[in-house]
Amino acid sequence: MLENKNIPKTPIASLGEFALIEALTKSFEIKDSSTQFGIGDDAAVVQHGKDETLISTDLLIEGVHFDLSYTPLKHLGYKAVMVNLSDIFAMNAVATQITVSIAVSNRFSMEALEELYLGIYLACKNYKVDLVGGDTTSSSKGLIISVTAIGKANKDEITFRNGAKKGNLVIVTGDLGGAYMGLQVLEREKAVFQVNPQSQPDLSEYSYCIERQLKPESRIDIKALLKDFGIKPTAMIDISDGLSSEILHLSKASKLGCQIYEDKIPIDPEVVKICEEFKINNTTAAINGGEDYELLFTIEQSDFEKVKGHPDLSIIGHMTDEASGYNMITGLGQQIELSAQGWNGIENKEGN
Ligand code: ADP
Ligand code: MG
Repeated sequence: MLENKNIPKTPIASLGEFALIEALTKSFEIKDSSTQFGIGDDAAVVQHGKDETLISTDLLIEGVHFDLSYTPLKHLGYKAVMVNLSDIFAMNAVATQITVSIAVSNRFSMEALEELYLGIYLACKNYKVDLVGGDTTSSSKGLIISVTAIGKANKDEITFRNGAKKGNLVIVTGDLGGAYMGLQVLEREKAVFQVNPQSQPDLSEYSYCIERQLKPESRIDIKALLKDFGIKPTAMIDISDGLSSEILHLSKASKLGCQIYEDKIPIDPEVVKICEEFKINNTTAAINGGEDYELLFTIEQSDFEKVKGHPDLSIIGHMTDEASGYNMITGLGQQIELSAQGWNGIENKEGN
């Protein structure tokens, strides 16, 4: 599925390193005024004025973090950027630049890398960040992508994991479990395809979840939304490894406990439907699934009226004292202790 074998492809080796970098990066234009100099010298130059600079990096390895048998390279490029921007947004900051480093084996053609960079280009365009550098090297096997994101924020806007206070409300953006259920569908179709390469699956009824898995978006909108509401979040983290694991990180960093309510956790109807099909509990998918790239944050109780009823913000619980532990109240009123693996122990999949 990676390459159509009938169309001749350009071997990367035929280009040379500089021609390759030039070909991959020539269409990227500098848009952000903080980018003084991008690609083409030994280092990029960034000027953030009075703002603080935030830096986050991630490494994605073929076979560990992505599977090219069902991941189009364009989507992979887009997702690799989203994963990093999400970390900047989780600090309540604005993303301004990225660097992208790749290690590629000779299995990949020039056309394949151009697809990857098309996805990176789209992500940069949609999220208004500049590609300002990277590194290109060969790998003996497979594809490795490392993205570094740079962002800016006013010192007192930056939101860490450790700022939550007892009684704060816990809020999650969007909905959860979609990316995980999308992955289940894709893995199933891959297994079917291996047995019967002629199969032409109709995946339209799974489209929301598949998109959540293959082409996620990150929450660029939340910083401005909270600012409009006059809310300063007290602590924030992005949901890359599942709600359960992330709320534990936030609680432990803040030296507090937490109590969330199962029936407040936002789940899309398509997730519910696919969970039924796969005989997976909805809540398990939502709190353990991972890769949703939503934000989890805490606010003062006095801000309740400002967020109440907002379609993108779900109030799922509150912070308690540390001795109370990390708990979820189920729909039946039972109290269950949250762990990094969630509450009924589905395997915690490889995070990013
Ligand atoms: P150096 O030898 O100084 O590391 P390189 O030849 O690796 O420089 O890179 C030349 C320029 O191209 C630099 O500005 C670098 O940041 C940029 N660059 C290299 N590889 C990539 C890539 N895969 N994506 C984006 N920019 C890249
Ligand atoms: Mg280099």
